[in-house]
Amino acid sequence: MECHLKNLHLLCPESGLERDSELLLGGGGRILARGRGLEVPPGTPVHDAGGALCLPGLVNSHNHSPLMAVRGMVEDRGFAPAYIPGVPQGHWLSEEETLALARLGVMEMLCAGATTIVDYYRCPEALARAAEEFGLRAMVGGRVMDMDTAALAEGRFEEDRRLGDATLGAAMETVERWDGRGRISAILAPHAPDSCSRRIFAEMRDLAAASGRQIHTHLSQSPMEVAQLKAREGMTPTEFLDDLGLLGPDLIAAHCIFMSDSDIARFGRAGAVVAHAPIGNASFGAAAPVKALQAAGAAVTLCTDTKSADMFEAMRMALAAARWRSGPMSFDFSAREVFGWATTAGAAALKGHAATGRLQPGDPADLILLDPEAPNLRPVIDGFGIVAHSGSAANVTGVMVAGEWLVRDRRPVRADPAEVVATAQAVCDRLWARAQA
Ligand SMILES: [Zn+2]
Repeated sequence: MECHLKNLHLLCPESGLERDSELLLGGGGRILARGRGLEVPPGTPVHDAGGALCLPGLVNSHNHSPLMAVRGMVEDRGFAPAYIPGVPQGHWLSEEETLALARLGVMEMLCAGATTIVDYYRCPEALARAAEEFGLRAMVGGRVMDMDTAALAEGRFEEDRRLGDATLGAAMETVERWDGRGRISAILAPHAPDSCSRRIFAEMRDLAAASGRQIHTHLSQSPMEVAQLKAREGMTPTEFLDDLGLLGPDLIAAHCIFMSDSDIARFGRAGAVVAHAPIGNASFGAAAPVKALQAAGAAVTLCTDTKSADMFEAMRMALAAARWRSGPMSFDFSAREVFGWATTAGAAALKGHAATGRLQPGDPADLILLDPEAPNLRPVIDGFGIVAHSGSAANVTGVMVAGEWLVRDRRPVRADPAEVVATAQAVCDRLWARAQA
């Protein structure tokens, strides 16, 4: 895996733009040296990047790859479309069908420049297999829930212990089988405050405390969730998690949209982590109070949450959403800051992986190359602005994890993209035919 990468413009949130630079990668998959005129041992393979921008690999902090099955078909049909008649249901999916969809989702995320992802859903075994096949770093979990979702959609709480036991069992099997295997680690993922009882959240909390694992969940994603928690527990979803002792740096909460000022202060004070999903939120007319959350002390990471896996679009949308929320002529956050959320901040907030989101000597060689001939990436002056405001997943030509090329010339190295796409399309055709029958 030794490699001398030359003719690069390195762009990192912490060190800025370094033009015409080089990287020397060692056999252990780490960066040995960076800078101009490096001393390179004779015989080291050379990769001339042709003047490409070279970025740390992106950290996509919240996804459910099999949900790619409904992408493009549900965004205009209301909230929580999984419960709408005429839409494929997650529980219809077999293990092999889940795998086919996860392969599509993981391939898309990887080719879009993500070298570290979080992925949780039903059939976590399939998610782990997909991640292992493509080779990126993945924090994988089984989605745990114990509320009847059909009843929940009608505002009724019907605890389903069998569902709770089954999903928790699958989640723990994933921990046992996959944690620490290659580049995969296992996370604990209770689905959301409205779809999980106090009992199952407490169980997950104890498992997390005993194992040092983080908890990934959804929080304050809809006004319905807030109303349901107030009815069931007499408190907001944030107060509920606090009451359970879950608020802290080891809680990664996706969305965090419908929070009161006191929820924001509580979440921030605890140093909890937001998985900010600006694209998905905007698709139903919402923007999370990320400025207030960060000011209160929360850590911010960025995700695409199974929409287009384009983290560049997510950076751009994060800026737009924050500024839209603050009002005309506000300029909240900077391109450099949101790029940090997608790299260093994401890597630092999430545990269970070796990524750092930086490109310094000693760091794992997790990096991406952007097309040096792409017109949308010019001019490169400070680098940050052009990447966040104009960059695109389609600009990613190469992806490396731990010194190993996983994408070259825009194609995944370990799988045939035509086969992955065709297999997933066939599964989706069957699912949609069943849903619309
Ligand atoms: Zn989610």
